[in-house]
Amino acid sequence: MKILFVSSEVFPFSKTGGLADVAGALPAELTKLGHEVKVVTPRYKGLPSEATLPNSKTKVYFIENDDLYARDGLYQQAGVDYEDNAQRFIYFSRATLELCKRLDWKPDVIHCNDWQTGLIPVYLKSIYATDPFFHGIRSIYTIHNLAYQGVFPKETLELTGLSWDYFTMDRVEFWGKLNFMKSGLVFADMITTVSEQYSREIQTEEYGCGLEGVLQGRHHDLFGIINGVDYKVFSPDKDPMIAKPYTLKTLEKKNDNKKALLKQVGLPTKRGAALIGMISRLADQKGFDLVAEMIEALMVQNVQLVILGTGDPKYHTLLQALEVKYPKQLKAVLAFDAKLAQQIYAGSDFFLMPSQYEPCGLGQLISLKYGTIPIVRETGGLADTITDFDLAKDFEHELGNGFVFLDYSAQELLRTILRALVVYKDEKAWSKIRHNAMRCDFSWKASAKKYEALYRK
Ligand code: ADP
Repeated sequence: MKILFVSSEVFPFSKTGGLADVAGALPAELTKLGHEVKVVTPRYKGLPSEATLPNSKTKVYFIENDDLYARDGLYQQAGVDYEDNAQRFIYFSRATLELCKRLDWKPDVIHCNDWQTGLIPVYLKSIYATDPFFHGIRSIYTIHNLAYQGVFPKETLELTGLSWDYFTMDRVEFWGKLNFMKSGLVFADMITTVSEQYSREIQTEEYGCGLEGVLQGRHHDLFGIINGVDYKVFSPDKDPMIAKPYTLKTLEKKNDNKKALLKQVGLPTKRGAALIGMISRLADQKGFDLVAEMIEALMVQNVQLVILGTGDPKYHTLLQALEVKYPKQLKAVLAFDAKLAQQIYAGSDFFLMPSQYEPCGLGQLISLKYGTIPIVRETGGLADTITDFDLAKDFEHELGNGFVFLDYSAQELLRTILRALVVYKDEKAWSKIRHNAMRCDFSWKASAKKYEALYRK
């Protein structure tokens, strides 16, 4: 099949979150399965105009328009969205379709991702529907995070080239505004999201962000496929970014990575202390309010915390204050730093992800591979990938690969970390859970086959 994969970010060229990881890995995996795959993305500052994905012959095309894309951020600067984001991604969507024509390359399927590409399925069924070149092209739309919908004032419709007939509540309108995500959900031939649990959750009022009705209406065309991890990038045995490579058999070397990490971030080595890592966008979604609420109670334990992230200024302020308060126990690096991220995955004992909601989550999957035990809230992809380790059970047969709590509360989070610390101190149980974690296989292969099956459908 011929597949066009459209994404507003693609690792290693551009990245703000998990979408980039998916766009950098899934197309390469589909190429391996024998498909002809092309990737399209904006040409942000400093990017080439054509490239291939690393270690793959998958071609990446960059849509160039320096006025729109050659900026320091992808979508925003200093926490504020660019005011012309609608224009930027309308242009991107139309240019993507025009590109197919210029290349005289007709895909069987156009795979769109998140709100930035939500208008493509609409265009295929409106403006471009009369052009024979586009006949028979199907679209699939993947929700990576339903909370970011690309909602713009009504007048924005003028920029899209669509007629006002489209501005109705069963099409692209959302409470008097233009909603890109909704547009994709209504017009795509098929919809996917990045875990089965999230595909169910988003049909409820609690998680549906106002689009639960639209999703319920399309539940026959809605599928959940868990993301994979690119183990070429994230594997402790061949990660060039970390102090000492290690495997399941040489797990003692993980401790050298812990020492190196503590040194790197300027924390003292404390005997017997468990090191908890967090790598995350600093957003309400990620549960930092819970961390703030229980931090005092946590800090009386023998633990240290390294947090890497950027985002909402209110969390920058909060983390800076905590760092001053607990200089020997807590370090917050407020930056986007891929190398340090890998050092944290390798050097930490635990990885904390107490998300309010989590479509898939990659942090916990990467952590597993590094033998770093996830402590997560039971939601979305976290619920689908992390199984609670119960010390009370006969743990020889225990499959648990992390620690899980359900109630979104600081108390539950604290209780779960304390439970994790008991296992940490129990040599046998600790060895068992780390083995369970490192043996998990979340490579892309299985998920790519599921996408392939949907494309065929
Ligand atoms: P989301 O897509 O919601 O941000 P995911 O867990 O799906 O969350 O993906 C986040 C990805 O971005 C992971 O690969 C994580 O390691 C990476 N990441 C997040 N914040 C940072 C940061 N400050 N520096 C480096 N990598 C980061």
